[in-house]
Amino acid sequence: MSTRIPVTTSSTSRARGCLLGLAIGDALGAAVEFSRPGTFVPVTGYRAGGPHGLAAGEWTDDTSMALALADSIASVGWNLDDQATRYVRWMRQGEYSVNGRCFDIGCTTGTALAEFERSGKPRTCGEVIDRSSGNGSIMRLAPVPMRYFSLLPGDIGRLAEMAVESSLVTHASPKCLSACRYLAIVLAGLIGGADKEEVLSPSWTMLQELRRQEPLHTEIEDVAGGSFRTRQPPQIVGSGYVVRSLEAALWAFHRTSDFEAAVLAAANLGNDADSTGAVCGQLAGACYGYEGIPQQLLAGLAGREMIEVAVSRLQATADEAD
Ligand SMILES: [Mg+2]
Repeated sequence: MSTRIPVTTSSTSRARGCLLGLAIGDALGAAVEFSRPGTFVPVTGYRAGGPHGLAAGEWTDDTSMALALADSIASVGWNLDDQATRYVRWMRQGEYSVNGRCFDIGCTTGTALAEFERSGKPRTCGEVIDRSSGNGSIMRLAPVPMRYFSLLPGDIGRLAEMAVESSLVTHASPKCLSACRYLAIVLAGLIGGADKEEVLSPSWTMLQELRRQEPLHTEIEDVAGGSFRTRQPPQIVGSGYVVRSLEAALWAFHRTSDFEAAVLAAANLGNDADSTGAVCGQLAGACYGYEGIPQQLLAGLAGREMIEVAVSRLQATADEAD
């Protein structure tokens, strides 16, 4: 399948697309969150409603947490205390929210942030047990590869380490940490301009180096090895479980050839549709860039200015450092 990547993309455009894509995928999926596939009119654009009663184009916790992470990196650099503190401000005061309220939060995230408030220790407040392997840390990952993609190829280990650290604050199970390592290098590769088929290949040189430094969790390795190519719905599910969520987002990204088709395919899996959309949106936005996002999806996105400001601030920080 040919991939329609606009000729004008640059790393700046692809990083911008990565965060906007996250928010757009989140907003598209929000209206059908918790609905089983086949039980709703297929999503073709923004729609009001869903379990949180949002207006069309409004987004959820995925985007709020990504905005908090982006703001932290742009404000103080890499600091887990600060990242956790900003997540708590979202949880308690509704900062970084589209409507000023924290109206949804995952169980694992809520438990971890309450533990951080008690202990003040961001590296150990996330749950380690396998049962807590939700998609809450891959859904917000974009700011890490957006800011640090240029660590590839030479310092892939540092990028992978930051991806892991970003997850520890709320999701510390081995599967979540491994999923963040893998997704971070895929997103960084795409933002850096690597070809879509190349970064999705099980033999991509960066993936081989990542494995050499530390093998992926076996279930994440199955996904990285290409499970998303061979499986189809109903085996592909819009699940909140990190392994299936990552696989579903890659399935939607891989089988389509433009931004809009990718995020709609993800959202239409239903169930945890907003987070599947958010993960797929990061991939598609990082691949096709800002120019690849249709105008009506940009125009209808609630709080677009908040996202654009976050992108600009991250970019300015990167420019200062380089
Ligand atoms: Mg959500």
